[in-house]
Amino acid sequence: MTFATRMGRVASSATLKVTAEADRLRRQGIDIVDLGAGEPDFPTPEHVKAAGHTAIDENFTKYTPSAGIPELREAVCQRYRADYGIDTRPDEVIITAGGKQALFNAAIALFEQGDEVITHTPCWPSIPQQITLAGAEPVFVQTHAEDGFAIHAEPILAAITNRTKAIVLNSPCNPTGALISEEALAALADTAASRGLWIVLDLTYEKLIYERVAHNLPRVLHDRLRDRSILCGATSKAYAMTGWRCGWAVGPKEAIAQLNVVQGHATSNVTSITQKAAVAALTGPQDAVASMLSEYRTRRDRVWEWLTEDPRFTCVKPRGAFYLFAYVAEALAPAGVRSSAELAEALLRDAHVAVTAGEGFEAPGYLRLSYATSIDRLKEGVTRIHALVRARERTGARS
Ligand code: GLU
Repeated sequence: MTFATRMGRVASSATLKVTAEADRLRRQGIDIVDLGAGEPDFPTPEHVKAAGHTAIDENFTKYTPSAGIPELREAVCQRYRADYGIDTRPDEVIITAGGKQALFNAAIALFEQGDEVITHTPCWPSIPQQITLAGAEPVFVQTHAEDGFAIHAEPILAAITNRTKAIVLNSPCNPTGALISEEALAALADTAASRGLWIVLDLTYEKLIYERVAHNLPRVLHDRLRDRSILCGATSKAYAMTGWRCGWAVGPKEAIAQLNVVQGHATSNVTSITQKAAVAALTGPQDAVASMLSEYRTRRDRVWEWLTEDPRFTCVKPRGAFYLFAYVAEALAPAGVRSSAELAEALLRDAHVAVTAGEGFEAPGYLRLSYATSIDRLKEGVTRIHALVRARERTGARS
């Protein structure tokens, strides 16, 4: 069979692959500890679910405008006004099927063959794959465990060439939990303004930051690069709404119109019912967000302590999101494997623990463990990980 040549340049989603495999084994009756999925284990808040029920009962089940219902686009504007003090209008917002579609629409609308698009690694797998699907070339700027994978402006600025079209940033970052500072973003925005570059900012984890730290990135971009920046967000992580598929992009009206052209030929509107639920999430009480954050903080601290009890697992304590990104190179030889991908395979096959290998994040030697699961399961997962390495070390087992 022959496929479009672009398919030879892209890989399937490393994160979704782990979720699917864990699911397959679970359906066979195997007790899987799933630390793979980046998905809150909390239920969607009651008032959000109720808004979804009401939408069905009131037959709000038809097409909506492709860019989203005006009420939801306005709700996004209100949220950004309340959270960041920036004024946007509904025609500067498009509602998308998760943050992923917001980023995808932006990639297709902005990037093309011959373009370079800079992003930082370790990175969420879909960011470079979307750039590639758009025909452009991802340019990777590495961040480092030594300083908590901080996203600095200087190396990104140094990677700019005449072919650079855009910079894609993710803060808090999946998988590292690192943040970009307002100062670093301001430096990037000023250069982007003078060189005519776009900045696409993925804020999917914006509500999951564990310390009191200045992170008003929308304000920075709004003040310095309003006509060439796209902010992408989602209800998925903040409101435990992954399956509802709701995200958005906020940007200049002309750009949002282009993103809507892409969407109009791909999926049309986000599910009508989801849109009503998202209005409730964004405009209703926000206390569930705070209580989930507090629980994630507890889990982060516990799982970090447990994992690093074995010195062969080293790990920065993440500042945001809900992943531990552990350096496991020292555990590979004892476990009889050659790479973190092989270790992840062995963990799933022999210890029934699902984790995502660093290879998917452009970071071999690492494993990503999601702590969006209960404390008991986290303890069980880490116990099994350590036990597998020790048992293989004792017996000299090889994969
Ligand atoms: N963002 C989540 C993760 O990294 C969900 C999976 C995906 O959409 O890639 O696990």
